[in-house]
Amino acid sequence: EGVGLYRTEIPFLVRERFPTEEEQRLIYREQLEAFAPRPVTMRTLDVGGDKALPYFPIEEENPFLGWRGIRVTLDHPEIFLAQVRAMLKASVDFDNLRIMLPMISNTAEVDEALILLGRAHAEVREEGWDVKLPPVGVMVEVPAAVYQAAALAGRVDFLSVGSNDLTQYLLAVDRNNARVAGLYHSFHPAVLQALAAVANAAHAAAKPVSICGELAGDPGAALLLVAMGYDTLSMSATNLAPVKSALRRFSRAQAVALLAEVARMDDARAIRACVDERLRREGVPVRTRI
Ligand code: PEP
Ligand code: MG
Repeated sequence: EGVGLYRTEIPFLVRERFPTEEEQRLIYREQLEAFAPRPVTMRTLDVGGDKALPYFPIEEENPFLGWRGIRVTLDHPEIFLAQVRAMLKASVDFDNLRIMLPMISNTAEVDEALILLGRAHAEVREEGWDVKLPPVGVMVEVPAAVYQAAALAGRVDFLSVGSNDLTQYLLAVDRNNARVAGLYHSFHPAVLQALAAVANAAHAAAKPVSICGELAGDPGAALLLVAMGYDTLSMSATNLAPVKSALRRFSRAQAVALLAEVARMDDARAIRACVDERLRREGVPVRTRI
């Protein structure tokens, strides 16, 4: 039904230098054209942390808490502007572009990004490209953004939760460190409470909310997310069929009842076991976990 997260850093990663604005336009247009008229949600460059560009090295002691995502592109507005100009121009005639801002941790970053986006839009229109300003969203992947979800939702057209980073930052567990992988648990009650709070804040501001981390591709998690009111679940294509198949076995009321049950529990493993058991009872295949 479209693309919930197009990671624009991928075409940046496979090159030896920053792609030019025209090169980016062609890459983005191919994506937008392939999915038109369905929406394609393009995230502005999210380098730093675990995503390093070989030709733009960032040396830091603690990269996950350092210069990454929107922090880099706001410090380099020329990169941000070239990218959003390329996206806008690529969307001509399709109007299926949505733009999403990664690693937002305060409202000033959103305000600054929106000003740059407005400038890029005015420029490309002046240059003769007949494009609309696309819907803009904020990624909620930092705990601060959970607490500020209402203020963020008020500024943009949608929120989208990056559950990979949100889990990492809420639990203080490096998402790529095998030694602490056993602590990385998206069914942790704190993560589930944060997810529910974001959905509520978005809807209170009358804005749609989606999830674009790996979590939505887990059938049990998808069930809980639907119960929380998430409007859109984004996942890798291989998970689409298992998730759809699982969701179809439950009514919304049943999903809400399951969410209410796990909301009373205080342990991630117990929650996982409860959800898995419920799935099994409906005939959904559940992989055994250790
Ligand atoms: C996330 O953090 O959940 C997310 C979707 O972004 P990425 O995995 O690219 O950091
Ligand atoms: Mg992320």
